[in-house]
Amino acid sequence: MRIEVVTIGDELLLGYTIDTNAAHLARQLAAIGVEIVRRTTCGDTAESIAAAVGEALDRSGAVITTGGLGPTSDDLTKPSIAALFGRAMVLDEEHLAWMRDRWATRFQRPMPEANVQQAMLPAGARKLVNHHGSAPGIWLEDERGRWVAMLPGVPREMRGMLADTLLPIVASRLGDARTVVRSRTLRTTGIGESAIADLVGSLSQGVGEVGLAYLPNADGTDLRLTVRDAGPGEADARLADGVARLRPLVGEWIYGEDGADLAEVVLSQCRARGITVGVAESCTGGLLGARLTAVPGSSDVVQGGVIAYAYEVKTSMLGVPAAMLEAHGAVSEPVARAMASGARASVGVDAALAITGIAGPGGGTEAKPVGTVWIALDLRGVVEARRYMMVGDRAEIRQRSAQAALEMLRRRLLADGRQAGTQ
Ligand code: AMP
Ligand code: MG
Repeated sequence: MRIEVVTIGDELLLGYTIDTNAAHLARQLAAIGVEIVRRTTCGDTAESIAAAVGEALDRSGAVITTGGLGPTSDDLTKPSIAALFGRAMVLDEEHLAWMRDRWATRFQRPMPEANVQQAMLPAGARKLVNHHGSAPGIWLEDERGRWVAMLPGVPREMRGMLADTLLPIVASRLGDARTVVRSRTLRTTGIGESAIADLVGSLSQGVGEVGLAYLPNADGTDLRLTVRDAGPGEADARLADGVARLRPLVGEWIYGEDGADLAEVVLSQCRARGITVGVAESCTGGLLGARLTAVPGSSDVVQGGVIAYAYEVKTSMLGVPAAMLEAHGAVSEPVARAMASGARASVGVDAALAITGIAGPGGGTEAKPVGTVWIALDLRGVVEARRYMMVGDRAEIRQRSAQAALEMLRRRLLADGRQAGTQ
């Protein structure tokens, strides 16, 4: 089945809102074997909606729209598409009653009259239940079987309606000869995409019939394997084979699969070994602590930390000698080491990570340009430190630094585990 997506909204054209709906639709539909063959974005006028949807219908006969189902004057999706199908707009009494009741019981005030518009549906339309808002989605189909499904613009509502209602409808139309588009992702960090390509060698061209994509981002490089045009079982088998062939080549650079979060990976390693963790952060200002504490259940491992931005705080709270700061500067190996050891002592943990660097845009020098970051780890008194040259803007340098610190701890625990295993 070929489906086109039309996302509707001036805010999308103006670039104020990023079109996450189209991306989400594409991923979810691919998972059931439906390919989005074209995406269009149009503004909030009746003419542009009718033109975009009309052209998509002519090409593909199956269209999903998002946006413009709200109660305000810029929400013109329904009447514009009803006109395309030659249908009148009629009041759905049942939906209106449901909305009035929802306002009365849930919001405890009368429904604004503007919302009546949300109960106006094209004649002959099928409602798609919205568990997350008041506008129903709409399924409109003509006698030739061409259809448009209209979903809300608010991403949370759109996602809910897609999962609850639309995906099952689309899946039921696919019949038996189902092929899927499936992916698996190996997540790496600390290594660039070209270096991974060297490791992967000839497999770079694709692992058998599995497509291989390198996806660099601020957390590392993801390796995404994709299978198209295969039945579900066949696709999973090919992906498993691809992963089995790639893993030995990329080895320990891989920290997890699919949506894996390095903080979560590190936390479970620490938990398994009874290691508690603290942080000392300068240029990341708490980002590392935030990454760790964002993981549910982190409190048994993470004890706390110090945001040591100023010299005085590095001295008073982490015990970094003032003379060391004077002699080497805050962004230096000895200071990173002293911060880590100071945090381990003052927070009272087994492992402390310290980050000190120049996130920019100002503050760089020839010897220490923007992006220079020292990261140190003190694990039960054994201290290591490393200098990194991070690329990107301030936000990216900070993000990369937190990720690199987590990776330092992951690698140490791996190495220690190996050593313990061979003894
Ligand atoms: P609408 O249903 O058109 O009134 O959209 C409601 C809100 O949903 C807008 O203000 C946007 O913030 C958001 N939104 C609409 N379309 C999209 C989209 N394609 N991707 C992400 N957010 C969207
Ligand atoms: Mg809108």
